Amino acid sequence: MEITCYGGAGEIGGNKILISDKDTNLFLDFGKNYSKEKKYYDPPFLQARCTEHLLELGILPNLSGIYKLKEKSGLKFEHGINGVLISHPHGDHYDYTRFLKDDITIHCGEASKEIIMARECSGTKGPTSEYYMCNLTKSKGYEYYKKYQTFRSGDKLKIGDINYKPIHVDHSVYGAFGYLLETNQGILSYSGDFRLHGPRSSMTMDFIKEMKKEDIEILIIEGTNIDSSKISSEKEVENKSKKIVEQTNGLVLVGFSAVDFDRFITFYNISNETKRKYVITMKQAYILNKIKKSSTIPKITDDNIFIFVKEKKTYNEFENEIMRIDGLKTINSDELNKIQKNVLMVSGFYDFNELIKIKPIPGSIYILSQSEPFNEEMEIDHEKLKNWLELYGLPLYNVHTSGHATADELKYVINEVNPKINTYSYRKTLFI
Ligand SMILES: [Zn+2]
Repeated sequence: MEITCYGGAGEIGGNKILISDKDTNLFLDFGKNYSKEKKYYDPPFLQARCTEHLLELGILPNLSGIYKLKEKSGLKFEHGINGVLISHPHGDHYDYTRFLKDDITIHCGEASKEIIMARECSGTKGPTSEYYMCNLTKSKGYEYYKKYQTFRSGDKLKIGDINYKPIHVDHSVYGAFGYLLETNQGILSYSGDFRLHGPRSSMTMDFIKEMKKEDIEILIIEGTNIDSSKISSEKEVENKSKKIVEQTNGLVLVGFSAVDFDRFITFYNISNETKRKYVITMKQAYILNKIKKSSTIPKITDDNIFIFVKEKKTYNEFENEIMRIDGLKTINSDELNKIQKNVLMVSGFYDFNELIKIKPIPGSIYILSQSEPFNEEMEIDHEKLKNWLELYGLPLYNVHTSGHATADELKYVINEVNPKINTYSYRKTLFI
């Protein structure tokens, strides 16, 4: 068997781990390499427009027979791949699947698929329409272009000749899984991203238990916080943020990832306890509505949840879909302006143009609560964020906890599992 890790040591994410075992070739994750793209590109005017660009810059794996559209000459590996196993719906673990041929099956959890599709329909898609994974338009409704095989924790499935079992783990996004793969060389286990200090740590413990039952030959484990042992919990984020909100007389603005539902619940609780209306973005509402089956997350029609509607001439189809929901409460910037003291508003960096109309009153604040501000999603340009906050005199509070295992947690898992070989992801190549 051969294991090749694309992504690069020390770089941020972009996991793409190729497992070649006799006649089966599969990828564990196929994520976007945010840091490498940022090195060469400055979107939207300068960005990779096709597979060829990313191949040329060494950002996509130099392999033949797996990509859509143009084939570059001189690529190695002619066999194609049998499938891709996605660990969780963060861009650095799934986003480059858009460049793969549409008939390559993507295996992931049910929630993962819903989140990927919802993000695609409500935000940034591929650089051109050929690379969209799905689309939502007024004329055609929903169109899906990729093949998915979904599963639940503990199911038994197969890619090529390799049987595998997904087990849920806790991470800063729902739908995260670790995997056990039966290879010719023994059981290979892949953790994906996980943590043990999160609100659903029992899920990670399930994965550890499952690994302990087996004789694990190879463990590929995440290593984002390999040099840090700082421990904090979601409860700590809630307590600290609540104190800050209680002492605030103006508008409370808070920024966190639209797919971090734990953080969504944390600030939902705080807004209720501090008697503030919880104002969320349209994109957030859309994604939440897609996974509404999950009983732990409040519904977007909840009494205290209000959807912020930007003023614009035409709305995207996903926004129209949200606004058609019965019982939904919306709020615009003029209405917000009048009740700032009674509002906790989710506002990402890309919503900051709205501040011009909202006009935050003195005493307003901004809480940045991204789990990994400059990691996985790379959505925030910190300098620009600070300039906006300065313009409105908004003090910045950083309150967050990592979505990743600490160094101590990693050590604990490796000791518990006791694999014959272990490697951290983001390393180069391992031949065995
Ligand atoms: Zn992640």
